[in-house]
Amino acid sequence: MFALHYDDAAADTGAVQFGWRYCSKCSSLFYSGFPTKGRCAAGGAHVAQGFTFGLNHQAPATSSTQTEWRYCDKCFALFWNGAAAKGRCPAGAGHNAQGFTFNIPYKTAAVDPGAAVSDALASIIQADRVPIQDYLKSQLGRGDLVAKGFTLYDLNLQLGTPNFQSAGTSFNYRLPGNYLYLKSTTPTVMGSYGDPAFEIHFDVSLVGAIVRAGEHVRVEGLVASVPSITVKPRNVTGDIVTTFVHFFARTAYGGRVIQQAVDKYSRQDLTDRVNAYLQQF
Ligand SMILES: [Zn+2]
Ligand SMILES: [Zn+2]
Repeated sequence: MFALHYDDAAADTGAVQFGWRYCSKCSSLFYSGFPTKGRCAAGGAHVAQGFTFGLNHQAPATSSTQTEWRYCDKCFALFWNGAAAKGRCPAGAGHNAQGFTFNIPYKTAAVDPGAAVSDALASIIQADRVPIQDYLKSQLGRGDLVAKGFTLYDLNLQLGTPNFQSAGTSFNYRLPGNYLYLKSTTPTVMGSYGDPAFEIHFDVSLVGAIVRAGEHVRVEGLVASVPSITVKPRNVTGDIVTTFVHFFARTAYGGRVIQQAVDKYSRQDLTDRVNAYLQQF
């Protein structure tokens, strides 16, 4: 976890070069001090957003800084030049180092265990959106589950914005505002243009303990739950809404599938993967 200087009004000093910006298109850090803005992996030039960051280039490398961070004169992004391979530059071939060698301060997980656990969970859960969606599709996409003639299709899972809280050694990672979008065939002759669409909103809560082990931290006792499920119809009213509300009640089939997806996923290997991620710091 790197810790950069940021100050929108700061001028360069003998030790720090400001003018480094976040690109809202490719999410990299690039040098924005020139009239042209390099080559963005998302196409065209980088687009600066947010803070102006400053990078150390004179302070000697210490046990809490990592050196070999360099500017690429082809794409203008910051990249790590400490390996033989130079990554993949959007301007073609590998990045090409020019100018200062930056020493960037970092924090270990032990300094800020909550932030480390929060980062680990966010990164892993986001990467698993598609597998969880596939599980929900496999369980909910079978024919006639809701009622005869009602088969769910076009299932698409969207994850909400996480909210992480820790107190002492325990944490609560809440993921509110997730929803499963889906459509349903109907037993009528109206055709698919008339098919009802729903959003099945559900909150997820992950609680656990943070354990320190020297410089590293790990999590234990991870327990996931789904505190609420709400059906929001997109284009229908009436009896069919009631049918879906019943199907996705927490104790009914649809509601249980959502809870099983979260339970199965969190029990299977989430703890191991979070801990493997945390070992990197
Ligand atoms: Zn970019
Ligand atoms: Zn490059």
